[in-house]
Amino acid sequence: MDYDPWEELEKFLNQSSGNQDATAFSWEEMEKICKELYGEAVPIPQEFYSCYSKELFNACVGCEKDLLFPPQLYEIQKVYKGKEVIFEYALCEQCGQELLKEYSQESKKALEKYFLENLKYDAMNDECRLCKKEKKEMREYSIMSMNKGQEMFYSLLICNSCLEKMNELISEKTRKAISDFTEAKFPGIPADFSPLPVFQI
Ligand SMILES: [Zn+2]
Ligand SMILES: [Zn+2]
Repeated sequence: MDYDPWEELEKFLNQSSGNQDATAFSWEEMEKICKELYGEAVPIPQEFYSCYSKELFNACVGCEKDLLFPPQLYEIQKVYKGKEVIFEYALCEQCGQELLKEYSQESKKALEKYFLENLKYDAMNDECRLCKKEKKEMREYSIMSMNKGQEMFYSLLICNSCLEKMNELISEKTRKAISDFTEAKFPGIPADFSPLPVFQI
């Protein structure tokens, strides 16, 4: 195969993490790569609807911007404990980038390395994307998706123990910065939880 989108993605991530200016990160490019990896976007499945409104998320948790009209790039994360959603949010690209600025270069690099080294390309939808543990064996897990307007490009499930491992890679200083930022900007997200802009790391 002369063109390997995964290799492209890795190259792209390496490039962006070497970049001091986090805002230089382009989701447009990410969007292009996602299309190549996963094909065209699909309508956001109900699993990623807000469990409160039972509808699509329509506003960013940070800036309250309308996500659907005109269609914005954003990520959704829902955290489950058993069958119950403990919390959920949609975060627009700009707010994700703002949040990412709170991460030190070292923390970002460590997270990215962990992610790329553990990513299981062949994991099924009901398995953790990083360790392939099955959903039915998990007590706590998160599902995340990258979306534009009413369409979804990509989704993944990550078990709590993998999320905890990722959380341990973040320095104390970065963790504090993230929780201050979360508390101030994202009232919908518990401050002791680090919303992970996974698709932007
Ligand atoms: Zn926002
Ligand atoms: Zn896992």
